[in-house]
Amino acid sequence: MQAMVLDRAGGKLSLREVAMPVPDDRQLLLRVRACGVCRTDLHIVDAELERPKLPLIPGHQIVGEAEDGRRLGVPWLGWTDGECRYCASGRENLCDAARFTGYDIDGGYAEWVVADERYCLPLPEGFDDLQVAPLLCAGLIGYRSLRLVGDGERLGLYGFGASAHIVAQLAAHEGRRVFAFTRDGDVEAQAFARELGAEWAGSGAPPEELDAAIIFAPAGELIPAALRAIAKGGSVVCAGIHMSDIPSFPYELLWGERLLRSVANLTRRDGEEFLALAPRVPVRTHVETCPLVRANEALDKLRRGDVRGALVLIP
Ligand SMILES: [Zn+2]
Ligand SMILES: [Zn+2]
Repeated sequence: MQAMVLDRAGGKLSLREVAMPVPDDRQLLLRVRACGVCRTDLHIVDAELERPKLPLIPGHQIVGEAEDGRRLGVPWLGWTDGECRYCASGRENLCDAARFTGYDIDGGYAEWVVADERYCLPLPEGFDDLQVAPLLCAGLIGYRSLRLVGDGERLGLYGFGASAHIVAQLAAHEGRRVFAFTRDGDVEAQAFARELGAEWAGSGAPPEELDAAIIFAPAGELIPAALRAIAKGGSVVCAGIHMSDIPSFPYELLWGERLLRSVANLTRRDGEEFLALAPRVPVRTHVETCPLVRANEALDKLRRGDVRGALVLIP
């Protein structure tokens, strides 16, 4: 089969003819119908995450078709041990031995993939393959971040990419007011955010105090900026797997019971809850497509911030 393979972190993906994967007892063989491109893929390719298996086929927003015709989603959480103290307390996203799709296990930048059936997610009707792919990480991590940030009414979203464009719709559905922060001068992203329900979009300080903020952009300097923007008792959630170093900031920014935390991975329960909620909103994903063989160009676009909504590869 054809696959885009990473041989060396910090390099480029190579188009390669590789052997078809062979499922073990717990795994299904899935034909890849679409695979979303995530910023995490970019962090892996750019050597910002430490221990990918190599060579690696990236991709963890996989819409696959099983041999019996079922359409299944393969997300980032690919396997857990089920017995560590995290798994035993309903926090499998923090499992010490977790294995992740497109990182520890070959992923969906390929024509076929194998995945542990227990971690595959049934996909909702009413979304075509391209529309549903970004729900599998951008949507899921966004959903988990929104749950963890609390129920503050005025919500700031820092970095208006694939995840924020879905979270904005969930937040509007819950009756929240959304404030979208983009790169300086990115008027196109600001217009896009307003189309999706943001009442304000810009860069710099928001027009009023916020109650909560989610940071999607991998820029550490956004943490003091977001803490400065939120009211007492507010929360800041960092949704990305990697971020540049955080500049030091005065304790005063955290004082007043402000809360700062990260979101790590997902649980299968997050997947079930979010995929049940998405059709009820209904979430509409804005997707740009790219042929699998041009995955490097897709990653370049994401690196430049030149994507409206989400990017999806088609084998
Ligand atoms: Zn575990
Ligand atoms: Zn992801």
